[in-house]
Amino acid sequence: MYLIGGGITSLASAVYLIKDTGISGANIHILEQHGIVGGACDDAGDIKKGFVVRGGRMHEEHYVCYWELLSNIPS
Ligand SMILES: Cc1cc2nc3c(=O)[nH]c(=O)nc-3n(C[C@H](O)[C@H](O)[C@H](O)COP(=O)(O)OP(=O)(O)OC[C@H]3O[C@@H](n4cnc5c(N)ncnc54)[C@H](O)[C@@H]3O)c2cc1C
Repeated sequence: MYLIGGGITSLASAVYLIKDTGISGANIHILEQHGIVGGACDDAGDIKKGFVVRGGRMHEEHYVCYWELLSNIPS
């Protein structure tokens, strides 16, 4: 399966394809034209210092779908 663009739409699609349909992540290919994924929600940082996501100030508690999505990402 191929998803065009590495924005949150494709990344969220990949999460739910794996979680809800059982498709292996190895069979999902995200094609991104730039060297960084995330699209308008791209981030910066590294695994030691942590990451900062653009628009981070807007990660409010009532965005329940967003937090549900992130809860599926292994840390
Ligand atoms: C500070 C900030 C606050 C925001 N607040 C909100 C908000 O409150 N509510 C809201 O709904 N949205 C908000 N947004 C917008 C939100 O970030 C976008 O709606 C969302 O990121 C769109 O995701 P997307 O995956 O559809 O598209 P994008 O994030 O635009 O990602 C598309 C990706 O596809 C890639 N791409 C495009 N064409 C091709 C191609 N032909 N081949 C390969 N790759 C390609 C692009 O390079 C890009 O990485 C905010 C954004 C910012 C920066």
